[in-house]
This record gives sequence, C-alpha cells and structure tokens, in this order.
Amino acid sequence: MHTDEREVELSDGARVGYGDLVLAPGMEEDLDAVPGLAGAMTAGWSLTAHLESQAPAVWDAVEGMSRGRVVFTLPPEPSPCGGTALKPLFLACDEWRRRGVLNDLDVHLVTPFTGVLGLPFVDDRLEAQLGELGVSVHRESTVASVDHRQRTVTVDGPTPTVLDAVDRAFVVPPYRGQGWLAPLAREEASGQIDVDPETMAHRSAPRVWSLGDAAALDTRPSGGALRRQVEVLADNIARSRLGQPLRCYDGYTIVPVTLDRRRLLLAEFDRTGTQAPTTRLVDLSVPRRALWLFDRYVEPLLYFRALLRGRLVP
Ligand SMILES: Cc1cc2nc3c(=O)[nH]c(=O)nc-3n(C[C@H](O)[C@H](O)[C@H](O)COP(=O)(O)OP(=O)(O)OC[C@H]3O[C@@H](n4cnc5c(N)ncnc54)[C@H](O)[C@@H]3O)c2cc1C
Repeated sequence: MHTDEREVELSDGARVGYGDLVLAPGMEEDLDAVPGLAGAMTAGWSLTAHLESQAPAVWDAVEGMSRGRVVFTLPPEPSPCGGTALKPLFLACDEWRRRGVLNDLDVHLVTPFTGVLGLPFVDDRLEAQLGELGVSVHRESTVASVDHRQRTVTVDGPTPTVLDAVDRAFVVPPYRGQGWLAPLAREEASGQIDVDPETMAHRSAPRVWSLGDAAALDTRPSGGALRRQVEVLADNIARSRLGQPLRCYDGYTIVPVTLDRRRLLLAEFDRTGTQAPTTRLVDLSVPRRALWLFDRYVEPLLYFRALLRGRLVP
C-alpha cells in the first residue's frame, strides 16, 4: 500500500493508481492466539466448521461420538459471523438426541458473551434450548489454551476452569485483520482497518475506505451486514467526491442460528445490540421452520445463481 502516492502494489511489483480505494480482504484466523490449538488441529482432536478445510471432518467426528466430554466454543469478536458457531453444537446435539446418546455426552459451550450471544432478545430462547439439551455454558469466557495430549481445555473467565478428559474440542479460533494491512489497521480492533465506523472512511488515509470483516466497524461482522455497508459506502464515495455530508452506517448485522434440523432464527441488530428487524411483518428472531427451509434450500440458489452473478442487488 502506498497511500501517500494513492497507489497499491501488486504481488508482481506493479503499481496501480486509484481515485478511491476500498479494502475488503476479510480476516484471517489467529491460531497462535490459543496455545496448543494449531497442534490440536493437526492431530485432529480439535476441529471447527469455521475453517472450510475442517468442516467435513466435524460432522464425521459428531457421527463417531456416542459418549464422553465435548467442548464447543463461540469465538471472541471480531470474527466472521461467530454466532453461527452455535450451529454445529445444536446440530450435533440434535443428532445425538436422535440416536439416543445425548445423555451419555457431557457437552460444554464456552461463550465470550453474557447469556449466549449477549443479545437479550434471543438469549432467553437460546438458553432454553441449551438447557433442554443439558449443555453446560461457560459465560464471559474464552479458551486460554488446549492440550490434545492431556485432553484438556483451559477456560478463562469469571470461573477459570480446566476441562479435562475432553474427547473432542470444537474450538473456533480467534480472528484478526490481515497482517499486510497493519499500517492502516488499529491494533485494539484486532488489526482491523481503522475506519470511522459510521462513514467507513479511513481515519487518516484520504480516499481509503473499508467494509466487511476487514473493517473496524464496531459491530459483529457478517455477510448480511455487507448488504447495508455496500449501500452506504457506495453512496459515501459519491458524496465525498461531490463534497456532500456522508451517510452513517448504524452497524446493522445479522446472526442466523440453526436450533436443530427443523428450526432457525435470525438475530438482526445494530452496533448497540438493539434488535434491528428487516421486516415488522413477522418476528424473525423466533425459531421457525420456514426460515430453516429458506436458509437450506432457497438462500443457496439466490446466493450462487443471483447475488454472485450480479442479478440481484442485496
Ligand atoms: C463458517 C461460516 C459461516 C458463516 N455464516 C454466515 C451466515 O450464515 N450469514 C452471514 O451473514 N454471514 C456468515 N458468515 C460470515 C461471512 O461469510 C463473512 O462475514 C463475509 O464473507 C465477509 O465478507 P468479506 O468480503 O468482508 O470477506 P471475505 O468473504 O473473507 O472475502 C475477502 C476476499 O478478499 C480476498 N483477499 C484477501 N487478501 C487479498 C489480497 N491481498 N489481494 C487480493 N484479494 C485478497 C480473499 O481471497 C477473499 O476472496 C459465515 C462465516 C463463516 C466462516
């Protein structure tokens, strides 16, 4: 990046000039932030559906378990839609319940939030579901380290705990901004790009903008959040060229939570954590069969056949 000259440098050394520059390279997982995690993943004892390379093995592991202790986690923020990491837990428990082995499994969830997602308008429902499944919840907690040889997961939080005799640790790694963007990043925001969270303009580099997971937007990153961000950012680039006041992004984001093989809920909220529903016709934060069917069968078609091909504007 050569922001003083308004140029970006490509991997072959060529430089390309820009009028405005929009950075959206996502985040990268930070395995080193949890001692032991990289080794535990290599050994296959720790797996996460949040990494594409491990996702198929997660379900194989779930199908292979019928007793023992298992740990699931929600990652600390920022993370790419970290709340969706509840899906493997709920689907696993659903599978174990169907096979009649759930009572033989000691299931734990480590969450960095109060409640479950730290969102009062859905946490009661999620707590009820976790209670029904017999899941032990470690709130306001993170995984400090794992040791696949000792089969331990060390949990940091109000009640520091070492979970031993763990048979499987489904640990989602922490995430951080891409290292090559460090000069434009904010360390306190886990290396995300240092933009004004409302206007998405970089705080010190003129005509540089950022959105998506890469940007320090003071909200929980998600693909759904991009729907709003793209609209505001595109408008703001045009407005800044015309010298007009910039629009504000309210931090709208979304966490879809699959509760079992039949029901899904959508938690839509702004950066204050206040519910921010797209529609008032139906409360999407209530678990629904129709939402599950939409997510399972309709959304992939919309996404791959329409959105990615530019046939549908989000
Ligand atoms: C398991 C999982 C489930 C999820 N489920 C949901 C969900 O149900 N709903 C939801 O809304 N969100 C969900 N998300 C989050 C969603 O996928 C992300 O928030 C979204 O993809 C972020 O988009 P982005 O464009 O900011 O970053 P990315 O999707 O990460 O895209 C960044 C792109 O930049 C490219 N790039 C990186 N570095 C460079 C470089 N130096 N040069 C050129 N290109 C580069 C990358 O190759 C990549 O293509 C999920 C995420 C995960 C991991």
